[in-house]
Amino acid sequence: MRRRHRWRSRRGEPRRRAALALAAAGAVALGCGMLSCVLGGDGGRAELWELPRALRGAPLVRVALREGVAALTVAVHGPYAVFDERGGEPVARGAALAPTQLRAEKSGLAFGRYLFRPGFVRVVPERSGTLELEGTRYRGELVVLWRSGQELLAINRVDLESYVAGVIGNEMPLSWPEAALRAQAIAARSYALYQVQARRRAPYDVTDGASSQVYRGLSQETERARAAVHSTLGVVLSWRGRLFPAFFHSTCGGETIPAAWVFGGPDIPPLGGGPCGFCEASRHYQWEVELSKDEVAAALAGRGVVPPLVSVAVRERGPGAHVALVEVTHAGGRLRLSGAALRRALGTSVLRSSRFEVEDAGERLRWRGAGWGHAVGMCQFGARGMAERGYGTREILQRYYPGAELVALYPAPASTLADGARAALLAGRSPH
Ligand SMILES: [Zn+2]
Repeated sequence: MRRRHRWRSRRGEPRRRAALALAAAGAVALGCGMLSCVLGGDGGRAELWELPRALRGAPLVRVALREGVAALTVAVHGPYAVFDERGGEPVARGAALAPTQLRAEKSGLAFGRYLFRPGFVRVVPERSGTLELEGTRYRGELVVLWRSGQELLAINRVDLESYVAGVIGNEMPLSWPEAALRAQAIAARSYALYQVQARRRAPYDVTDGASSQVYRGLSQETERARAAVHSTLGVVLSWRGRLFPAFFHSTCGGETIPAAWVFGGPDIPPLGGGPCGFCEASRHYQWEVELSKDEVAAALAGRGVVPPLVSVAVRERGPGAHVALVEVTHAGGRLRLSGAALRRALGTSVLRSSRFEVEDAGERLRWRGAGWGHAVGMCQFGARGMAERGYGTREILQRYYPGAELVALYPAPASTLADGARAALLAGRSPH
């Protein structure tokens, strides 16, 4: 449900500009109904979920690692057992599993010398972190579902804390200050748990890519990542006792904007947007890019744009001067589309945000913009900027999710409580 764009891409390094005056005119809140049409949101149907109660430990997250593939290679570097959908006794077990192919066949799922009739197979390692799928190590277990003679769906069932440890290093450089990493851990945990609640009837909760949160198992699980997870163990953001999707993005460019405006919901204060003022150091704070009119016409050919392209004009702006409506005039007529739809068509790392101006430079169009990503929720570069100025995790989260509360959903083991970091964070006396 998210379309985020992270700090990691180095493509199209923008030229820093001293000043960028974006038109503030037209920065009027528009109706959600109209925007949900224009922006492809969910029309305000996004729900908030009750916080899960009486959890004794981290719940499981189902992460889709591969979908629609015909074959996969799995290995286990230690004792393991394999179960079919009937459960009960394992159909196979061993001291270790050498790399073995799982293949979709017409009559079922081929796994080594076994053929599982349409259904699923579960590979359960005895020790955490010994599972390997396609060369990447994971904690938890693997479930592979047979979808058709050509399609498998591979799901990692992993506890929420291990999942977050496998996410934060892919969503934020682990060299960033601790307070920012902790804020990221809490946002990632909250977002995932929201999906766990919202997708109970779906075959999985999140994917491992940018449409959810980037998760790469053990590959980015360093000591710093684990420390950020352990010191915030079980802590999520909530609003009036409910879970909300804690969106985040690379750089807001000055202010964050309402989730309701971008995604159609939820329309609550923690996702209502506000001033940032801490992300100027981001290379995406202001950017400029030039595209030929032919390139723009080609990118919009699927929407009926016929070359030559005559002009691109911003018609309406929304919160934070983000573009609500663009009009493209071409040889075949006029196309009106949202700023977000234009970004998707041109490439979200080309047009880095929907806060932009466009200027006609003859054969070419010159775009000047601010920020990278959808600008909803936590601004990651802003979180870093705050941490560098001495603000703590709680203050960072209060700025980007105003009014949200921090709640610990389950008890932490004594070893985790030893440094008192979580208790201090919850009590609001954490230095970080
Ligand atoms: Zn910002």
